[in-house]
Amino acid sequence: MRRLSIVRAVPVLALVAPALVALPGAPPAAAAPVPPKVPVATGTGGAVSSVDPDATRIGLAVLRSGGNAVDAAVATAAALGVTEPYSAGIGGGGYFVHYDASTGKVATIDGRETAPRGIPADAFLDPATGEPYPFTPDLVTSGVSVGTPGTLATWKRALDRWGSRSLRQVLGRPAALARRGFVVDETFRQQTKDNRERFRTFTSSKRLFLRGGKLPTVGTRFRNPDLARTYDLVRKDGLKPFYRGAIGAEIVKAVRKPPLSGRTDLPVPTGYLTKKDLRGYRVKNQAATRTSYRGLDVHGMAPSSSGGSTVGEALEILERHDLAAMDDAQALHLYLEASARAFADRGVYVGDPAYVDVPLADLLSPTFAAERDCTIDPTRAATKPVEPGDVTSYDGECATGDEAEPVEAPDTENVETTHLSVVDRWGDVVSYTLTIEQTGGSGIVVPGRGFLLNNELTDFTAVPDPEDPNRIQPGKRPRSSMSPTIVLRDGKPVLAVGSPGGSTIITTVLQILVERFDRGRSIAEAVAAPRASQRNTAAVTAEPEFIDAYGPLLEAYGHELAPAGDALTSAAEIGAAAAIEIGPGGLLTAAAEPARRGGGSAGVVRPRTP
Ligand code: GLU
Repeated sequence: MRRLSIVRAVPVLALVAPALVALPGAPPAAAAPVPPKVPVATGTGGAVSSVDPDATRIGLAVLRSGGNAVDAAVATAAALGVTEPYSAGIGGGGYFVHYDASTGKVATIDGRETAPRGIPADAFLDPATGEPYPFTPDLVTSGVSVGTPGTLATWKRALDRWGSRSLRQVLGRPAALARRGFVVDETFRQQTKDNRERFRTFTSSKRLFLRGGKLPTVGTRFRNPDLARTYDLVRKDGLKPFYRGAIGAEIVKAVRKPPLSGRTDLPVPTGYLTKKDLRGYRVKNQAATRTSYRGLDVHGMAPSSSGGSTVGEALEILERHDLAAMDDAQALHLYLEASARAFADRGVYVGDPAYVDVPLADLLSPTFAAERDCTIDPTRAATKPVEPGDVTSYDGECATGDEAEPVEAPDTENVETTHLSVVDRWGDVVSYTLTIEQTGGSGIVVPGRGFLLNNELTDFTAVPDPEDPNRIQPGKRPRSSMSPTIVLRDGKPVLAVGSPGGSTIITTVLQILVERFDRGRSIAEAVAAPRASQRNTAAVTAEPEFIDAYGPLLEAYGHELAPAGDALTSAAEIGAAAAIEIGPGGLLTAAAEPARRGGGSAGVVRPRTP
């Protein structure tokens, strides 16, 4: 086996000391060091950035053995399905953005989950009360929230369009990883703990994640032979078993008749997925969104994600201000205000374009941005929520008069998911965000198959409203915030970036772009910088370090800052980005998180000291 040449850096997982391997039913084996997590790597020949060292290692191995960026991205994603099973896997969906060095084109694949054809508009209302199911835990732990998974079909489409390897080839290493296991770290243990109640509701999930009724121990090896067999089956028979065969039938059964253990009182509303939904599932080839910013072309994900349009609209607004010449408070104030406007418009205009007219060109129009910018006071924060703009009538002039009613939509998107970025030796680039929505998805493992089903349909609005572009409709994709992004300068790629984090994904990507291209930070610094997220809500959600650094300055502008964190997770952090910058002479800087989510993992094929 070739030596892994990831640049060594400070091991950020100091918490996770090597420990003894304790397999269920086996005596403790040899010490299992948690692989080092390296947040920044510089070099040539290709690069991978992800949240996990095993996944990054596998992506690099594919690049080293002659695979291209798409081969490596699919292998990395499949490895994340092993090591980050609560964030991503074949039970979910995602968005794949690709730059092709041979044509100079950016193109995307929409592999978002779809609503079953039989879903009623009021599927999220409790028939007993007529009110929406409580989001947590009823709706999130349910069959009703499971959408038709798109991830496996995305991998196949990406490989068919741009790859140089087959699904059989790229799934070999991830299958071996699932069989051999990965070393449990504190993040995995904590995520299992956060989900304990949900996992023990289902016999299959309890059996996989709570062996002997216990949480996995840090330093032990977590094996998933069921998932290894599932990957092997796909290697042998392709997508058929999943979309038209035995696995599909078992998915449907798990959704319609979840494998309840009788151990908890969670209500677990059942779902509507059928074999026909699986048979009919199709990924979509989509044009990327494109926004000009400071001489760069920022390419993102078009609807059904709101990522490209919302990041793009905010950039169009910010393009009108010289942030580089401003002090911290002025620049960050404008970042927050632009984001609030873009979120106001996202709420009323963006949904699945196969079902609703999304005025994408208007949302990304510099003229529309000019009019939206009229509503921003450079010296004072507006009261939130701010009103959406009117895409049917704008001329870029600051108008007076009636405006639409402000809408503060309850934000129920969750904070997990995973992102990876890859560059190969030929200069191809992939930026890929994939998810099963919530940490732990629906909580339902497909019995004997080793993967969790998503609860992506919780991204729909629960209460039926014919005006809402994100209302539940049969076959529809729920609106996403995933924002895999590739930035070009003069037609050549300079950056791939993305993040998990529900609707904060949008602000994380936006903030990294601003930190990198306006505020003079390196890509590693931009990823590490403390984050804040203004999604058109009364308070700005911010990490404690952001509040310490900028709180008083921004409060002087009238912003109210509230610490990040939610009821489900203990972490007061926003996102977990993974980026690669392509510098002069093709020098690659892979930048992952130094600390968030326990630290990410960056690697290059041929390391070089910058
Ligand atoms: N469901 C979210 C979305 O599509 C992603 C999940 C998350 O990051 O929480 O935007």
